[in-house]
Amino acid sequence: MRSFKHFNQASTDICPVCGTNDDKETVLIGIDGTEEGNIQQAAQFHLDCINLNYDISHNLIYGRTLL
Ligand SMILES: [Zn+2]
Repeated sequence: MRSFKHFNQASTDICPVCGTNDDKETVLIGIDGTEEGNIQQAAQFHLDCINLNYDISHNLIYGRTLL
């Protein structure tokens, strides 16, 4: 997961959680089903809009944010 100081406002993307393209610290999260070789499409999320948890028993990171 890559992080950036700014939201890429040159794109038409919006953060899927808050529905804005506000200029805040942003992370790129890969989109399931878009993998082509080593390339995968990603969505921009504001870092403060996501809430991740780690499930030790399943070795799984998951989001607790409801879209
Ligand atoms: Zn957001």
